[in-house]
Amino acid sequence: MSETTTTNTTGSATTTEALRERALKLDAADPLADRRELFALDDGVYLDGNSLGALPAHVPARVQDVLTRQWGELRIRSWEESGWWTAPERIGDRIAPLVGAAAGQIVVGDSTSVNVFKAVVAAARIAGEGRDEILVDATTFPTDGYIAASAARLTGHRIVPVAPADVPAALGPRTAVVLLNQVDYRSGRLHDLPGLTAAVHAAGAVAVWDLCHSAGALPVGLDEHGVDLAVGCTYKYLNGGPGSPAYLYVAERHQAAFDSPLPGWNSHADPFGMTPDYAPVDGSARGRVGTPDIVSMLTLEAALDAWDGVEVDAVRAKSLALTDFFLECVEAYVPAGRVTSVTPAAHAERGSQVALRCDDAESVMRRLIERGIVGDLRRPDVLRFGFTPLYVGFADAERAARVLAEVLAETAGA
Ligand SMILES: *Cc1c(COP(=O)(O)O)cnc(C)c1O
Repeated sequence: MSETTTTNTTGSATTTEALRERALKLDAADPLADRRELFALDDGVYLDGNSLGALPAHVPARVQDVLTRQWGELRIRSWEESGWWTAPERIGDRIAPLVGAAAGQIVVGDSTSVNVFKAVVAAARIAGEGRDEILVDATTFPTDGYIAASAARLTGHRIVPVAPADVPAALGPRTAVVLLNQVDYRSGRLHDLPGLTAAVHAAGAVAVWDLCHSAGALPVGLDEHGVDLAVGCTYKYLNGGPGSPAYLYVAERHQAAFDSPLPGWNSHADPFGMTPDYAPVDGSARGRVGTPDIVSMLTLEAALDAWDGVEVDAVRAKSLALTDFFLECVEAYVPAGRVTSVTPAAHAERGSQVALRCDDAESVMRRLIERGIVGDLRRPDVLRFGFTPLYVGFADAERAARVLAEVLAETAGA
């Protein structure tokens, strides 16, 4: 329907024509354009991959094999023969290049929330005695704040909520740990991971980064920037599937001192020794807890094939071009004053989503979804559009902006 409706309130037919032509040219020149066919998508525009990534089409057959052959036929033998036992470290090493980490520092398992707990408590222990403050991004995705508050109570620390930009001023000799998000889930703002990490280190504190909205969308450079610990989820830009296990990065230099608050048997040096005394294993496996969620984990492993041969720099270049182009189309099509972008215009401050403040956002998003443009809503008034460079193109961006203008024209004065 929206494809045949080219009327809009402010943009002329020639503007629409010009933007559509530009979109086609940009798509034709896009080095990542071939990735889209790897995904199961319909003819709508999916701009919610920053919440739940799309399904890579080859995954169901691989999961079917996990169920019917690995579990159904090999049963217990699969812990070894199908590589189940070592999956958390193996898949961690698959994620490592996407976030700029050398092998051996990332383990996959549990949810992001649980990994925030492990990371914050372990970081507080690494920071040592005499430092009693944990600084937490005041604008954080709520779970990080809730978990950090509990970790602080358990370890005898005090939580100091602070906006990321104010972190340098808030750091001091009392700071033990700083927990930050690289990209703000609401606004799409990209924070200065290298600069803030350096400031945290200059104050003698430990930096923990949450990469949920950056991994798979932009270069993170964990090793290069000396990040201490990091966590992230795999069901957003990494397309691991609903509730797919998260990951924990512990820089190699901290691994020996990483003292997990959840020292389950999977992190024991000799898990099958079944000894009463705990002795932690070396390496990234020290971040493990209990028996891994194998079906979800191997679903993620299969999904990561979609990244084979992809350079994160190319993803970032396309992401910025897509969000620029979407903002340009919104500007051209949407009547002035109806939406305000809360996503920074500067590339250095932009993640891979565009957040538009809009009156009546809930009904606007509902109508967009009815017309095949799937974004989401952050209450009360933010429309979020996630641009996942592996499967969103420039024609999608143009169409989404055009349909948004149509929806807003229909609800004018409502
Ligand atoms: C998506 C997201 C989470 C999700 O946590 P779960 O434990 O997987 O539910 C946590 N933190 C941030 C910053 C997120 O964006």
